[in-house]
Amino acid sequence: MKIAAVNTHLLEHRLETAFESASMRFDRRLHVLVEIVCDDGTTGWGECLGPARPNAAVVAAYSQWLIGQDPLETEKHWAVLYNALRDQGQRGLSITALSGIDIALWDIKGKHFGVPVSTLLGGKFRDSVRAYATGSFKRDGVDRVEDNALEVARYRAEGFHATKVKIGFDPQEDLRVIAAVREAAGPDMAIMIDGNHGYDAIEAIRVGNGAAQYGIDWFEEPVVPEQLAAYREVRAKQPIPVAGGETWHTRWGMREPIETRCVDIIQPDICGCGGFTEIRRIADLAALHGVRVVPHVWGTAVQIAAALQFMAAMVPNPVRNRPIEPILEFDRTFNPFRQAVVKSPIEHEAGVVAIPAGPGLGIEIDRDALREFAPKGE
Ligand SMILES: [Mg+2]
Repeated sequence: MKIAAVNTHLLEHRLETAFESASMRFDRRLHVLVEIVCDDGTTGWGECLGPARPNAAVVAAYSQWLIGQDPLETEKHWAVLYNALRDQGQRGLSITALSGIDIALWDIKGKHFGVPVSTLLGGKFRDSVRAYATGSFKRDGVDRVEDNALEVARYRAEGFHATKVKIGFDPQEDLRVIAAVREAAGPDMAIMIDGNHGYDAIEAIRVGNGAAQYGIDWFEEPVVPEQLAAYREVRAKQPIPVAGGETWHTRWGMREPIETRCVDIIQPDICGCGGFTEIRRIADLAALHGVRVVPHVWGTAVQIAAALQFMAAMVPNPVRNRPIEPILEFDRTFNPFRQAVVKSPIEHEAGVVAIPAGPGLGIEIDRDALREFAPKGE
């Protein structure tokens, strides 16, 4: 079996109501899938985190090192592609593009051997995971405090055990949002807060100390990802566990945050940090240092399926009689192609998501949806 083609598929939907995190405004959903086709007809799928068109361009640039090669040699391809752009590409688009390719190659490997990727990774420890609802962004034209509280009440009614709320805008208003959300969530639902690196260390410490009374499970991306000393300061000077990692790439990018304890929870994104090949090494590094792993997920069903295969194979933490199970980040914002790209949508039931059991990623792509959501021109 040889690799015959490396294709990308852009997916786009313009939103009627834009929404914002502290770091980004979304007036459209725009994602890119990677398709690797082999000469025997086997096809693997992956997805890249981040800007879709630049990712597609880097995937196209990498294809010269893949065509004609054996797709099963995943470790070798990772090393060849990483080394090809290493001098200028130790993080960023070179790694997010590599991630999409690596996931597609593992999908091919699973299909070739007739097993889910979790089997290739060593076996599944679980058939399902609890999901947490990510939402509560800032939406145009509505009162944020009321809007987020109503949204969280919906997640509670749907059966989610936890939800994550977007902050990082104005510290005073953010604290009012957190108070209202706790009221709507009731005492038992877990709440996490995500600053999307919208604060400096002084603001983050103030917000963390103000929010702690509402019982917050983690404080994600309090400060910009380049400032590791600021991360450590936030962790030291407020009581909420600190999470981060969606913008740190590869084992080298994760090493200092883990080793110097910038975070209590590391959040590698399988479509950003280097695919299956690299997220395993990151999880091992985290386990070595007693840092909890909760993967970041922000994509279509292809990314969700990849994250689920990895999570199926995550080795339980060392507390044997009371294992702390991984939880799935489950984006609840509007995205009409998120599940349309696969023939069997990956949905939750009362906040629990089953891990697909078929070969590879366990999904089948719906090509009609790829055509329907292909960009229609600017
Ligand atoms: Mg985040």
